[in-house]
Amino acid sequence: MKILFSCLFFWVAELHAQEIQCKQNFIDIAALEQKRFTSSNNNVTKTFASSNYTIYYSRCIWKVDPAVRYIEGKVTSYITASTSTNKITFDLSNSLLVDSILFRNQKIGFTQNANSTLDVQLSATLNANQKDSVTICYKGIPGNTGFGSFIQTIHNNTPVIWTLSEPYGARDWWPCRNGLDDKIDSIDVFIVQPAQYKATSNGLLQSEITAGTTTTTFFKHRYPIASYLVCFSVTNFSVFTNNVQLGTVNLPVVSYVYPESINDFQPYTYKVLDAMQLFHNTFAPYPFIKEKYGHTQFGWGGGMEHQTNTFLVNTDANLMAHELGHQWFGNKITCGSWQDIWLNESFATYCANYYAEKFDTSFFQLILTNHLAQITSLPDGSVIVDDTTNVNRIFSSRLSYNKGAYVLRMLRFTLGDSLFFRGIRQYQNDTTLQYSFARTADFKKNIEQVSGKDLTYFFDQWITGQGYPSFQIQWSQNKNNWAKIKVNETTSHNSVSFFKTPLALTFKNATQQKTIVIQVNSNGAETSADIGFAADTVLIDTEKQLISKNNTSTKINSLTANINDIKLYPNPVHDNLNISLKNPSDKKLTVQIYNSVGQLISQEQFDTLGQDELLQVSFRHFSKGNYLVKLIAGNNILLTSKIVK
Ligand SMILES: [Zn+2]
Repeated sequence: MKILFSCLFFWVAELHAQEIQCKQNFIDIAALEQKRFTSSNNNVTKTFASSNYTIYYSRCIWKVDPAVRYIEGKVTSYITASTSTNKITFDLSNSLLVDSILFRNQKIGFTQNANSTLDVQLSATLNANQKDSVTICYKGIPGNTGFGSFIQTIHNNTPVIWTLSEPYGARDWWPCRNGLDDKIDSIDVFIVQPAQYKATSNGLLQSEITAGTTTTTFFKHRYPIASYLVCFSVTNFSVFTNNVQLGTVNLPVVSYVYPESINDFQPYTYKVLDAMQLFHNTFAPYPFIKEKYGHTQFGWGGGMEHQTNTFLVNTDANLMAHELGHQWFGNKITCGSWQDIWLNESFATYCANYYAEKFDTSFFQLILTNHLAQITSLPDGSVIVDDTTNVNRIFSSRLSYNKGAYVLRMLRFTLGDSLFFRGIRQYQNDTTLQYSFARTADFKKNIEQVSGKDLTYFFDQWITGQGYPSFQIQWSQNKNNWAKIKVNETTSHNSVSFFKTPLALTFKNATQQKTIVIQVNSNGAETSADIGFAADTVLIDTEKQLISKNNTSTKINSLTANINDIKLYPNPVHDNLNISLKNPSDKKLTVQIYNSVGQLISQEQFDTLGQDELLQVSFRHFSKGNYLVKLIAGNNILLTSKIVK
């Protein structure tokens, strides 16, 4: 899902660690607080359905008139008992009144509870693994939670009803298992609506049968589906179909749009066809390739990735690519907890960014600049959700969408394209995860298996850890154009003391430039590289591969004494070895002497070195032979030289 703001790339700081996005450069704090109030004070924030059964098939009959906020439903759930039981519990809002429940063609007892659940008293005990079905007939005016789970409104003076159940709103309009622990293996949806309207839902349209003033529209979906991805909408839709070639399959892409908007939609759907081919070829085959993909226009300010049928407000390419990306990340593999929402939202955001990288490079650069600024606008915040009762935190654009997507970009930079995309493909094809649920550890396991690397540090830094690093680069260059580079790092939040990462440095002068990638593994570490020309500037991470901010790069005359500025003489030596040093950056120097079998035989420290120093170490008591002299400043070996006596 993605909320689209008219000022897509503006952002403002969070208030009370709460994500706030501006709408037309104006912060509607009241509305946000109202939303926060709603999400934190109702207790319908997770599933209360009993865990003693799963649903493998649902036949849903929903009767609606878009002019009236009302639903009449008959939902038959085909269940498998997990344990021996004669009572099962569904999630269902108390705004809806259950008329009757049928079990083996008999009415059975039930109770609607204050916590939005429906206890169903079966007239027989089901054994573990036994299959059966219950039919729940209900009606009423649906409540409204989350982002507006059941909306009845108008467009161009025509009534419309649409649903948007993510994250907890499915129970507002149908009896289901509202959580992230069970997918229905397949569903049939029948919408009964006034004949002047068209209905749209998940899967493939089977029939539209009109009898008198009523039309019954039948959609069939034969892939596992989470309850929050079940949808329908009814209004006077215009329908058009594009086709996209995915390997050997020519897949229909069916759009249901408001008649007054058809010219805003129809010319731009080619973008989603490009994105479908890109994702199909890069990540894994389109997950619902035996059926369709499609768009349904709705009035909510963004998009919602209903399975096989994305609801969206307009044809913004970034929005379309994001919702399409969800078909792989979110729908085929669904986050197993709202804590892990980044497995849905960050990946879908990454998909949209990847589409821009391939099809609109200037927009891609704009994404990187603006996402980086937004992510680092505050010193804290983890990708993992720390408060799953707060809808605004779950759907924080800064953390759950953009930071997580940037973390994927950093993972790609860290592993390289080949391993990264192989890892993503293996994750998509993991038979324990596909068409089911995944946690962060499941993704980590796959990417580690493919890369052969322990990425615990990476996930600790970027997924559970908060904040970002700032790099302070000091560099110098000698006469042979070798550069010495010293990297110090500070972090914006104490949950991560050090970010271990590759870092790209671009050495340049007026006519030449060269980028090297160094591995930053510890604070103050030094490294050297042959640049090949005399640089005057070092730029840090010019391709914006990393989340970082406030980086500095300083050229200094001599980072540590340059090799050219150190002279050892005479060689062969008699009594004393002279060491001349020019401009040493360190005031202290240790001189070690090793014999020919590598034993340390002498160590001497000099503590107050000047600009132009001449030191002496004695060889007088050593026998004739070969020796190794090491000059050490701090933790750095400046020079190792063979000396003969
Ligand atoms: Zn999304």
